[in-house]
This record gives sequence, C-alpha cells and structure tokens, in this order.
Amino acid sequence: MQTSSLSARDQEVIWHPYTQMQTAPAPIGIVRGEGALLFDEDNNSYIDATSSWWVNIHGHAHPHIAQQLAAQALQLQHCIFAGYTHPPAVNLAERLLQILPAGQRRVFYSDNGSTAVEVALKMALQYWDNKGLRKQKILAFKNAYHGDTFGAMSVSQRSVFTRVFDDFLFEVHFLDVPTPDNVTDIMAHIEALQTEQIAAFIFEPLLQGAGGMIMYDRAGFEQLLQYCRAKDILLIADEVMTGFGRTGTNFAMEQVSVQPDMICLSKGLTGGSMALGITTCTAAIYDAFLSNDKLKTLFHGHSFTANPLACSVALASLDLFTDPACKTNRTRINGLHTRFLETLQASPLIKNARLLGTILAFEITTPNADGYTNNLADELHRFFKARRIMLRPLGNTLYILPPYCITDEQLEQVYDSIRTLLVQLQTS
Ligand SMILES: *Cc1c(COP(=O)(O)O)cnc(C)c1O
Repeated sequence: MQTSSLSARDQEVIWHPYTQMQTAPAPIGIVRGEGALLFDEDNNSYIDATSSWWVNIHGHAHPHIAQQLAAQALQLQHCIFAGYTHPPAVNLAERLLQILPAGQRRVFYSDNGSTAVEVALKMALQYWDNKGLRKQKILAFKNAYHGDTFGAMSVSQRSVFTRVFDDFLFEVHFLDVPTPDNVTDIMAHIEALQTEQIAAFIFEPLLQGAGGMIMYDRAGFEQLLQYCRAKDILLIADEVMTGFGRTGTNFAMEQVSVQPDMICLSKGLTGGSMALGITTCTAAIYDAFLSNDKLKTLFHGHSFTANPLACSVALASLDLFTDPACKTNRTRINGLHTRFLETLQASPLIKNARLLGTILAFEITTPNADGYTNNLADELHRFFKARRIMLRPLGNTLYILPPYCITDEQLEQVYDSIRTLLVQLQTS
C-alpha cells in the first residue's frame, strides 16, 4: 500500500494541506467511494467516519448528485456572474432561502467556507460605512475557527497555525465561550469595548468545530445574542460546518430564538461533492448597499462565483437533504451515538464525552495528551488507519461525524475500534 504507484507519484509532486511533508507517512491513494466507504488502490475499504473533512452528508459518489452534475455539464459549465445569471444559481438561491432560518433574503455566492466568511466580514464593515457610521470593532469567540485566508484567520483563535502571520492579522476582540455562569462577565467585556463601535460578532453556532468540537451552553449563547442584537451589533452565523443537519436541526441557528443578520455556508452545501460558498443576508443588510452612489457597491467576486456545476450539485444535495429519509437517518445516528455515549462516559480514560445531533466527541486522557501538536494525535490517527477507519483527532479530541447514510453496522465498527483503543490504552 505504501509503495503503490499513486501514493509514490504523489510524493514526488504534491504538497498536502496541514502536512509536515518530511515526516508524514505516505498518503493513501483513494480511487473510489460508495456510501460511507472509500476504496484505495488495492480495493481496501475505509469507513469515512468524519465525512471527508465534515463535508460529505449523503455518501460518496451518490448517483443522484452524479446524474445532476452530468446533465448540467452538458448544458452550461460556467458563465461570468456579473451582468449574467443562470438557472442553477437562481433555483438554488430560491430553494435555500425557503429552508434557511427566517429573515434571510439574499444569496451571495463564493467558492468555499473561508471566502463565505470574508464576504460576510466585508458586508458587515461596509454596511456601517454605507450608513455613514464608523464601527470597526469585531467580536469572535476564543477557540474559533473560520478559515485560513487572512480575514478568516483574523477572526479565528491565534494558534500555532496562525503564529507566523499574527502580526498581519487585524485586531479582533475574543470572547469566552458561554457557560451556564459566565454570560454576565462576557456582556461586561463587550460593554467595555464601547458597543457603539462594534460592527459585528461572528460565531460558530452551538458548536466550535476545528477548535475541538466544543459544544457550548445554549441558554447563555442565546442571551449573548440577544444582548448583541439590542446593542446593534451585526450577528454573523458561520454555519459552514453546522449547516445541513449536523446539529440535529437543519441549521444550528434554528435552536435559538435570535436570528442572525448573515449566514455563511459551505462544506455540506454541495453534499460534499464540489467547492461552493454562500453568504446570505437580511433585507436590511442588502438594502444598505442600494444607492445611486457606486461607492456603496459590494466590490467582491471570484472567477468561479456561482459556478453552474457547483450550484447544480448543491440543488441535487438539497433534493436528498429535504427528503424525509435524511432526517430519519440523522435521528438514527443520534440514537446509536446516545447509547455509545454511555460506554464512553463509563470509561476512566475519557473525559467530557458529548453529543450534538450526529456529532459525538470526547477527550482521551493520558498523561501527556494536550494540544494539537502532541504525538497522541498521530498515534490515534495511525491506530484507526490501520483498522481502515478514517478518524482524525483534533489533538486529544476524538470525534465521529459520519455521512448520514452510514449503516448501523459501519457505525458499530467505528465504535468497536474505539472500544479496542480504550482496552489498549488501559493496558499500555
Ligand atoms: C471549515 C470551516 C471554515 C472554512 O471553510 P473552507 O472551505 O475550509 O475554507 C469556516 N468556518 C467553519 C466553521 C469551518 O468549519
């Protein structure tokens, strides 16, 4: 497997993301996918227990998505999106606005999660500028992750990932994540920043993904949003990972009573099959850009804005997502996770086992298990890879975040591998 031609050829020419190329093991060449399984060059199957970086929701190589893509490719593959439009972009915007939390009225297309965040930040800052107000402070949560481009890095937690660039990132005020008893302190923190100068608060609703699958207090979160709303601070919900059913509801923001001014979407948007980003906003945001003054225009776009192929697969994914079978699958996974959670909670080697929708997460406690760069993460990754299960820990945090089509048997295999890990850790 390690000497296979694809893997070997890769090592001559490719530079992989987040990878120390000198020490990383050779990548596994994946040639085919089906449902929750991926197959390597030697036809070994791997269970994709983390949805290929949290993007895949309906399974790999889904025929409906493939058919829609093929049909669209014979019709129109790409077209400039300023001054021109096309059916997939309009159809997708219409259908998305119907299922998004109330109040969202406009769809702005880009390419990925980071660009969806960049667009939201620009919209927020220019919204105030267009209104003739000077509001330039931005709030985000500690541990936040909003992407790897400079604006998105700026609103993310400073870390070993951003260290080299920290001097180039703009200033952001980082708030504690809500717990049942710190909301008063967080509000005091915001108050001290002079709320009339704050443009926006960007957050991952209910769950911080890359920060370590941190689930936070819903009531406190809601109270915080209410406070920001009362202070005229724009609310940007980054639903790039929580969107499309991950947290139980279609979108995480459905679980709180305050609705955001903007929503960022990507990852599950195309069912995980193509790159596409979306930033939606309310009528109030949109209207502030309407003017005879050209300087009030949102001057932002990308070559592949609203690519028809990407929009068509997003539409195909929506067909599958809005089918009641999808919800049934999510409930089924949540039920199985709930039972396994008890096993985890009973283990002395595990702390902080938690569950939200289809996401089950926990920390492994060993003497030197701390931080993203520890060796435990590499060891765990190796352990699961050897068992042909794709689980990639975030530091000492392990999580299962499967495609919704994963079968009971496949999920049990994932649980079994974790049980085996716990036995090994116990005896080592
Ligand atoms: C992954 C992620 C992003 C960045 O999306 P990319 O498509 O990787 O640029 C932004 N926000 C959240 C919450 C994410 O999980």
